[in-house]
Amino acid sequence: MENKRMTDLGWNYCYLTNPTNKNNVTCKYCSIVFKGGIYKFKHHLASGYRNIKGCIKSPEHVGQEIIEYFLKKKQE
Ligand SMILES: [Zn+2]
Repeated sequence: MENKRMTDLGWNYCYLTNPTNKNNVTCKYCSIVFKGGIYKFKHHLASGYRNIKGCIKSPEHVGQEIIEYFLKKKQE
């Protein structure tokens, strides 16, 4: 489980704003700093989830990839 978290798909699209704080991540596409960790960041890429602001600069296929990733997780 721990390993799985480090290889989270979301890390392909963001990086830690501050290496000592895992809750703040920066979007590689729109440079927004996200204060909610990788989990919320993925919702940012998927767009339109809950009240999290979607990414306007990421390519459409990235959002699709994240949504498929969520669906796959649900089935596990
Ligand atoms: Zn973004």
